[in-house]
Amino acid sequence: MIKARVLLAAITFLSITSCRTGDNGNAETNASDESCNNTSNTDTIVEKIPSGRIDGGKYALQQAYPDFIKSIDGNTVRFKDGDTMPYDDGKEKDFDTMLDNSDIDDMFFCKYDSNNTPPEYLADAGRSRCEALFKKMYGSSPEQATKNLVNVSWMGKNVKFTRVNGAADSLAKVADELSRHPELKKYTACSGTYYWRKVRGAERQSAHSYGIAIDIAVPYSDYWLWKNPKAKETDHITYANRFPHELVEIFEHHGFIWGGAWYHFDTMHFEFRPEILLYSRLPE
Ligand SMILES: [Zn+2]
Repeated sequence: MIKARVLLAAITFLSITSCRTGDNGNAETNASDESCNNTSNTDTIVEKIPSGRIDGGKYALQQAYPDFIKSIDGNTVRFKDGDTMPYDDGKEKDFDTMLDNSDIDDMFFCKYDSNNTPPEYLADAGRSRCEALFKKMYGSSPEQATKNLVNVSWMGKNVKFTRVNGAADSLAKVADELSRHPELKKYTACSGTYYWRKVRGAERQSAHSYGIAIDIAVPYSDYWLWKNPKAKETDHITYANRFPHELVEIFEHHGFIWGGAWYHFDTMHFEFRPEILLYSRLPE
C-alpha cells in the first residue's frame, strides 16, 4: 500500500503496491540489543504488537526513537522536550516532491526489502526523510551535528558517526561482526561517513549530514546515476549490484538499511534507519 495522496501513474501505483508483499524475513534490527546473538529487537517488538488496527509507521517510529518521541496522538508527534510535529502534512505530492518535502508519513510510503532485487519501480524505502525530524534528532547545522559525532573503530581506523539514537554503537557492532567474516573484508573499506551536504542533484539534505550513513567499497559499488547518466527520478532505469547479500544482512541486523535495496540504487551506502526495518517487518 502506497499513500493514496502520492499521485503517481496507475502503473506506478500497482508496481509499488506489489513491492510490499515480498519476503521481509531478513530485515532485522537489534539496534539497542546489547547481546550479539540472533534474537533481534524487531522480533520481540513484532510479537508485542497489539491485535487490531494499527498504524505501522507511527508504531515503528516510536519504537525506533524512544529517546525523542514521547507519544503520537492522532496527527501530532509529541517529543520529550515538549516540541510537536505533524505526522502527516496533508499535502499532495508527486514522487519528486515527496523526496524533497517528505513528512514523517512519507517515510513509510513503501516497505523495505533487500531480498527483492532488482527493486520494484520507485521502491525507495528509506530514501525519503522528514528533514525537520532528522535535524531535530541529529542536528540542524554542521555545528550541531558535529557535536554529536564520536569515533567508531572501523577496520583499524576511526570513523565519525553520531552517538544519537545509538547509531555509533550500532556501527561498532557491525564492525565487530564483520571482523568475523574475512571473506567480506574486501567490501569493508570506508570512503566516508559524516559530511554535511545536499543529495547529489537535489535540494534535500544527505543522510551523511546527520552522521548516520557510511559508504564502503567504492571499487565494487554501483550508483543509479553512474549506470544511467542523465536519468530523471521517474525514468525507468537499469539496476546493478556487486555486493553479496551476506554483507547487507550484517548491517540490517544492527539497524541499517542498504542503498542497494532502492530502485535508485546506491550500493555503497548503508544508513542507520531502525524505523524503516521495523515498519517493514510489521504484519500487513
Ligand atoms: Zn552514502
